[in-house]
Amino acid sequence: MPNMKIIFNEEFYDSSYASDSASVAGRMEAVMSEFSDTSKFQILPSPPAAKEDILRAHTERRYLEVKNDRPLYNMAMLAAGAAVKASEISFFSNEAVLACVRPPGHHAGADTGWGYCAFCNVSVALLKLKAVGLINNAVVVDFDAHTGDGTIDTLKSWPEAIVINPYADNNLDYIKLLEARMREINNVDIIAVSAGFDAYKYDVGKKLETFDFYQIGRILKNTSNRMGHQKRFAALEGGYYLADLGKNALAFCEGFM
Ligand SMILES: [Zn+2]
Repeated sequence: MPNMKIIFNEEFYDSSYASDSASVAGRMEAVMSEFSDTSKFQILPSPPAAKEDILRAHTERRYLEVKNDRPLYNMAMLAAGAAVKASEISFFSNEAVLACVRPPGHHAGADTGWGYCAFCNVSVALLKLKAVGLINNAVVVDFDAHTGDGTIDTLKSWPEAIVINPYADNNLDYIKLLEARMREINNVDIIAVSAGFDAYKYDVGKKLETFDFYQIGRILKNTSNRMGHQKRFAALEGGYYLADLGKNALAFCEGFM
């Protein structure tokens, strides 16, 4: 079995671009330390996104607002670029890819941003695939504890893009609900994933076990298998309980790959 590609730039280790929960020192190290097995994972860098990529998802005003904050801007362009790279490898090579990035993206709307997010990385990637004629439709599955309002906003003029933010009171119901929602998904050109790990039992969402992240990955893989292609990519969103963040990300990838 070929190894899973993880899109990651060394710059993401730099915690000085912001002062929030996503930018804290040690957070990316917690994740990347789990991807050191080269028989399973291949780490690939990627260039920053282009301005035109950002402007498919965001207003010029929002773009300039982020650009005014240079450290944040540089990191956000790299994060969006990594999501673009993940989506393109996934599409052309027909395989599962993870963009291990910060700042996260799913709270960045067309003209807004909050919750540590600058640009909506997943939407930037999908809208580029659509703009160059590679895809007509997509599903975004967001398993972060928080609703991906930015993803919904940035994709709102594209009715063939389905955004799923499952919500359930406990982990067993959550997995059942995700399975049910994914059974309704047929013939999408690509599966995009907002991979947030803050629904973990010791994180802010206080719900999911490590094995649940494996199951989420596996459900998405099974959906791909049913549709007859392996085009699926994920981008890191939240996840703040650093002691277990890496093992949760690893569990997801082992199900997803
Ligand atoms: Zn979150």
